[in-house]
Amino acid sequence: MRVIAFFLVGLAVHVIFFISIFDIYFTSPLVHGMTPRATTLTPPASRLVLLVADGLRADSLLTLLPDGSSRAPYLRSVIEESGTWGVSHTRVPTESRPGHVALIAGFYEDVSAVAKGWKENPVEFDSVFNESRHTWCWGSPDILPMFAKGASGDHVYTYTYPAEEEDFASTDASRLDSWVFTQVKSFFQSAKSNSSLRASLLEDKNVLFLHLLGIDTNGHAHRPMSQEYLDNIGLVDTGVAELVSIVEEFFGYDGRTAYVFTSDHGMTNWGSHGAGHPSETLTPLVVWGAGVHNALRVTEPQPYDDGYLQDWKLEHLRRVDVSQADIAPLMASLIGVPIPVNSVGVLPHTYLNNSDLFKAESMYTNAIQVLEQFKMKMTQKKETTLSFRFSPYQQLTESKQAGFINKARMLIQLEKYEDAISLCQSLITHSLEGLVYYHTYDRFFLGCSVVLGFVGWTSYVVLVILKTHARLNRHPSILRQMPSYTLERLCMCVTVVITGFLLIQRSPVTYYIYCLLPVPIWYSVLKESRTLTDLIQSAPSLPLWKCFGYFVLVAFGVELLVASFFYRAVLTVGLAVLSLWPFLSGLVGKAKFHSLSWFLGSLFLALFPLMPVVGREPNIHLVTCAGLLALFTSACYLWSSRRRTPLHLGDRQQFVAQMLHVAVCAYVPSLTHSSLQQKQGLPLLNQIISWTTLGSSLLVPLLSSTRLFHRLLSIFLSLAATYLLLSTGSEALFLPVLSWLMFVWINIEQEAMLAQGVSGRQELSTIDFSANIDIAKIRHLKLDDIRRSYFFVFFIITAFFGTGNIASINSFDPASVYCFLTVFKPFIMGGLMMWKVIIPFIIVMCTFETIQVVTQLSSRSLFLIVLVISDLMALHFFFLVQDYGSWLDIGTSISHYVIVMSMTIFLMLLSVFTHILTSQRLVLWRRPKMNSTVVQSPMGSTDSSSSNNEAAVEYRTVLLAIFPVVLVSGTISLSLMTHILKSSSTSITSIAVLNLIFAHFVFLVTVPFRIYYYVTQHWGLGFTWCKVVSAMIHIHMYMSFIFYVVILITRLMAFYHKAEQQASFRSIHALLVSGVVWMGVLVLVPCIMYFSYGRDTGDNGEKNGTLCFHFGRNIKSGAKVFNYIVSMLIIVVAAVLTALQANVLRVLYREHRQGCTSQQDFDAQLKSLCFALVMVVCFIPYHVFRLHYLENIHLQHINEVFLSLTTFNCLDMLTFLGRRTFLCASW
Ligand SMILES: [Zn+2]
Ligand SMILES: [Zn+2]
Repeated sequence: MRVIAFFLVGLAVHVIFFISIFDIYFTSPLVHGMTPRATTLTPPASRLVLLVADGLRADSLLTLLPDGSSRAPYLRSVIEESGTWGVSHTRVPTESRPGHVALIAGFYEDVSAVAKGWKENPVEFDSVFNESRHTWCWGSPDILPMFAKGASGDHVYTYTYPAEEEDFASTDASRLDSWVFTQVKSFFQSAKSNSSLRASLLEDKNVLFLHLLGIDTNGHAHRPMSQEYLDNIGLVDTGVAELVSIVEEFFGYDGRTAYVFTSDHGMTNWGSHGAGHPSETLTPLVVWGAGVHNALRVTEPQPYDDGYLQDWKLEHLRRVDVSQADIAPLMASLIGVPIPVNSVGVLPHTYLNNSDLFKAESMYTNAIQVLEQFKMKMTQKKETTLSFRFSPYQQLTESKQAGFINKARMLIQLEKYEDAISLCQSLITHSLEGLVYYHTYDRFFLGCSVVLGFVGWTSYVVLVILKTHARLNRHPSILRQMPSYTLERLCMCVTVVITGFLLIQRSPVTYYIYCLLPVPIWYSVLKESRTLTDLIQSAPSLPLWKCFGYFVLVAFGVELLVASFFYRAVLTVGLAVLSLWPFLSGLVGKAKFHSLSWFLGSLFLALFPLMPVVGREPNIHLVTCAGLLALFTSACYLWSSRRRTPLHLGDRQQFVAQMLHVAVCAYVPSLTHSSLQQKQGLPLLNQIISWTTLGSSLLVPLLSSTRLFHRLLSIFLSLAATYLLLSTGSEALFLPVLSWLMFVWINIEQEAMLAQGVSGRQELSTIDFSANIDIAKIRHLKLDDIRRSYFFVFFIITAFFGTGNIASINSFDPASVYCFLTVFKPFIMGGLMMWKVIIPFIIVMCTFETIQVVTQLSSRSLFLIVLVISDLMALHFFFLVQDYGSWLDIGTSISHYVIVMSMTIFLMLLSVFTHILTSQRLVLWRRPKMNSTVVQSPMGSTDSSSSNNEAAVEYRTVLLAIFPVVLVSGTISLSLMTHILKSSSTSITSIAVLNLIFAHFVFLVTVPFRIYYYVTQHWGLGFTWCKVVSAMIHIHMYMSFIFYVVILITRLMAFYHKAEQQASFRSIHALLVSGVVWMGVLVLVPCIMYFSYGRDTGDNGEKNGTLCFHFGRNIKSGAKVFNYIVSMLIIVVAAVLTALQANVLRVLYREHRQGCTSQQDFDAQLKSLCFALVMVVCFIPYHVFRLHYLENIHLQHINEVFLSLTTFNCLDMLTFLGRRTFLCASW
């Protein structure tokens, strides 16, 4: 129990350190409360047409064809004659959402915003659309809704196509752009006859926004050099030309329309975006129309030395580069609306063709608008900082601000417009610097407390290792320990001082955590100071020089790993050094074959970090080769070991089946890719194979024997099958090579241990994972174990960087998930990519688990050393985090820290996971042999025969497989849901959904207790708590059922009665009602439970608190009737509701095909059907079985399994994620 507590504390500490960087670095820069500013002069344009060609690179648009013509002749003519052009520089992350926010709202979204909401805006922000009189948008459902939702009032109208259209493999993606152009055309057509629409179009300050996703989609699917991508540019160009003529004709050629053509981000040569490569950050900007300068011919060379002007043959035309956010103030000043209040853009006044007065006034407005943000930020900071700690930003004190403003006004009055403009520009620069200054004000302070906590934690772990796992001379303590009450008092004082300090500063809650966390950590360190004195006293007896040598080696090794984050090739050097290890340590004499294998394996593996990660061409033949290699090595192993460890018949069948499976999976990618190349889409059979392989990959190994190499082989085969499906090229070979090296490592470690004279060698192949480790055999830690742990960390890093690098995390190649799906679904694709990254980790982790078993170490001691090593790395990266340099450097430095921190957390979880994966066995049809580890049968219980116990073991394993899955996936779906769901709506449905979330939450909290019980087979938490946990599964089931019924009935009523509007409650009433219901349930049920449920159990095991969840026998005959009624009721209600819902959908589907219903209605009802199906799938089987069970109480174990299946309804929230339109629907 102490160990579990230690790991939980460690997990918590690391999670806090991890989250801390979100508060230190990733806080939202936005401030609120400024007033919008606009110039009073008449703007040059009445309306603006904004065209965003998603994912269009600057060079793709501007490079000429070999024959000297352009693939975008219309835009080229604009650049050469009527417009102004330049390159717009975007920032990282180069994703659609941040790009559009920068374009339209004028600020760069911080990374936290991307993390918080993939599609919805996490904060309210002002945009050009919001400031406009009307905005009409056409385009993708991913982008438009966020601006429509962010806008106050109802003046942003969006027209989107259904999300399914974005399938980027089988059909022609340029259709997305044709759709937009056609819609706009018919919009203007209808405006001619619709007088109110015409009237609003004729007003000023209007915006038309066309979002063209085709180019991006084609780029992802075929890469930017493809004919599809380039043809799409031509299509967009034609569309733009046509659009301009339609617009001009509609407005009678009044010359009051301004046009802006740009893109949100570029794209790499291999079809991805997100990072900071020039191909991603350089986007074209072409502006023309009312108020825009004509093309200006220049003769002298322009101040750009990137060589693009020559490449594009545009040296003779003036180029004006901007930052992406500058486009927002440009658009605002063209149509005379206020600049969005959070904009950090600087008006590129050279684009304007207007009086100097207008330019100067616009610039002045821009400066005042940015200065307002600065002032607001300063006020906020001043309010929350102690006056003696507050040092204002020196470049822009209050007097300097006033000086700037007065001087600017004066210069404008004196008609010195040039000077006024440059003065305003410097004011903007200072304000922006000041914004950053105040934004990062607390960084140093927080950083210090995090480092303090870090160092404290690491020293504590070192002390724990020394105390419990190393052999120190324990002198009877001569030095008196620091009296602990003094220590406690000291800590109390420090706590009070820190809390007071933070209270006065009115710091956010999280600051308390970061600042107070070091106190208990250092308290524990100081309490262990005795171990330190022990160490000092036993120092003379230790081999000091050897220790020192090890210390230097490990420090060097850690630095090597840190360096490998910057240069993957360092890993190659590391592996080359490692390959010599058997020769340097003299093991080669004892194990020639293994040493040679180690040498060759390391060298082979060393090749992988040298290969490029991104931008390589897919080579499906290599994937097939990798499959064959995996088969060959496994066959070799099985053949060579057939004498020593003969296989059971069942095992042999399983291995043959698994190897056949790998063979199939080696073939599927090449089949899929050839089918995609012929544009025949993804074959359904391949898709089914892929998904079943993925789903079964972790279950199949559990079926195999738990003998050491048999289990490892089974894990390898099943993971290799999945890995092959996710591979596109040489990286597929990585897994077999890595696994081979790991296999050799296990063998060689045992030799190393023998060489050190540890007795009790056990034949490797006879070791069993599930056998309990003999406590007496566990040895103390030696210096050599530091090397083992270091090897492990090294291999984990190799597993991570062997086939990837930092860039490949944020810019993945969608080609690698084509075996699974081809529609763009970021969550699922991201999940699959993560799984691909994790598979090598699992292999290494399983090896580490094996080595712990082989070298007779307790599983924790080695892991503690690993913890220290990775904490040292994390600390190093914490210092390397920087907030200067290019945006890319900052991003990379932060992501290094994130990776190492999450690695530590992740390794902790993974170690538990692999422990289960290696030691548990699922038995589906055979009886397991009785062995001594089976739970002691409780004495005196009426039916605890041995067969019942066997059954108990079997079902326990099943339950052990089910509940972790429910816990993990339930938690994920809940957290996703709480992020997405906005509690602003108070319709019955959304309240029911909120209640449902609460029910899931309460239940999920109790699941860890269940898992803990099934793992340890011992309920040490008391009978009452057992009843609570046991009841919670029922409460959860019935409450969810009630909410499902409420949701379904409301939606059905709405459909059948065509209800105009769902009843809407005052939110406080809704909360009250829900609260009362839950109070009732959570108070009433425990009362009932206390008085009847499980009262007169005859089970001693329960009474003395070792067993739990055996209440079946207590059902009395009265309760039995009640149970019958409830079960029947649930079955009938569920079936009827599902049938009704299916009927609704059938009706809607028919209407839908005739175009009578909107997509949204249809989607909402489809969602209801999903709910109904969840209800049917989860609840009906259990209740049908329950009818049978009530007469056959001895089937209790099966009942538990059925009961556990009902908990899968925690995943109901995932039905929300399937479609993107749900947030627009009437939920
Ligand atoms: Zn995009
Ligand atoms: Zn994209």
